[in-house]
Amino acid sequence: MGFSCFGAFESSKDRREILSQELVTNNVRLFSYNSIRSATGHFHPSNKIGGGGFGVVYKGVLRDGTCVAIKCLSAESKQGTKEFLTEINMISNIRHPNLVHLIGCCVEGSNRMLVYEYLENNSLASALLGSKGKRIYLDWPERAAICLGTASGLAFLHQEAEPHIVHRDIKASNLLLDENLHPKIGDFGLAKLFPDNVTHLSTRVAGTIGYLAPEYALLGQLTTKVDVYSFGVLLLEIISGRSSSKAAFGEDMLMLVEWTWKLKEEGRLLEIVDPELTEYPEPEAMRFIKVALFCTQTSSQQRPSMKQVIEMLSKDVNLNEKLLTEPGVYRPQSSKKAAAYASPKRGKQSVNHFALANQMHSFQSMTDMLPR
Ligand code: ATP
Repeated sequence: MGFSCFGAFESSKDRREILSQELVTNNVRLFSYNSIRSATGHFHPSNKIGGGGFGVVYKGVLRDGTCVAIKCLSAESKQGTKEFLTEINMISNIRHPNLVHLIGCCVEGSNRMLVYEYLENNSLASALLGSKGKRIYLDWPERAAICLGTASGLAFLHQEAEPHIVHRDIKASNLLLDENLHPKIGDFGLAKLFPDNVTHLSTRVAGTIGYLAPEYALLGQLTTKVDVYSFGVLLLEIISGRSSSKAAFGEDMLMLVEWTWKLKEEGRLLEIVDPELTEYPEPEAMRFIKVALFCTQTSSQQRPSMKQVIEMLSKDVNLNEKLLTEPGVYRPQSSKKAAAYASPKRGKQSVNHFALANQMHSFQSMTDMLPR
């Protein structure tokens, strides 16, 4: 599907519609297509900084010299002007030091663009897991601060933002780093919103393989615990310096959470720590890894809330390991039908998980999934 940043026209009807929306969008700056075009040097390829499931991202400089990241939403994301502006207005009201700030948007013709604050150090995916030239060495205090900052942003989305938001796609490429390596969660407004205390049964699953909570991937159950699971995976990536979506571990080609559980069972948990980290406080690293295991447990009810995660990470609390149960993973297999709710131990419990997966094939197959 092509992108529609180029060659669009603003009709007088659009203009009237936009003007009539200005009261609604009292917190959002509305940018004209022309101002975005000049900010990005006519969408010059050298200003293209990325492209994800939502569309192409350009770096731009506004007339006042402010650097911005401009996300040109892809054609599939088109909504009516009114709905779009209402949503954007709501998103821009959600502010927290660990959330990427939405400055404004452009709605002209068929164009839908979002203008965000620009984060100098790109995404955690590129800083920590990217190619050698792009990587930034992150020491333990920096990694610990990134974990805590991300947890704060997520706890805010879950419990304080109005309306509460489940992000649904927490992962290293959605975590951006500013000039001080301070983390900010991106793309949060583009997640589906959900009202208080409602468990959604989603028919379409967004998210990324390697981070997907099994109950969401297989049953479409969307709760805040889906983000807690993905956050647990992210914690493991930050501690280990390895990607959950791009790597497999050991002879059995385990996923990162499975591998961590195996090391725990063998009493070798610290082996997961990034070998590039020559100095780190072992008890704290151990605690962080255990928190990640609490977050990725198979049963979503057993997972802590993000507020609890912050306490578990920041206080020297004793984690009750007796309560820890093994993680569940969603592992897509080569066949379209093969979706498995697998657990690392191939015991009785995993038989039940596979039975559950089989039951659910009719409800949620890989073709219904929209991994981004
Ligand atoms: P997905 O759409 O699956 O989430 P993604 O996270 O890679 O994939 P985008 O969120 O569209 O896609 O971002 C693409 C890239 O653009 C990011 O990885 C990052 O490098 C860059 N980027 C996005 N937003 C900003 C920003 N506010 N400041 C600086 N760079 C940004």
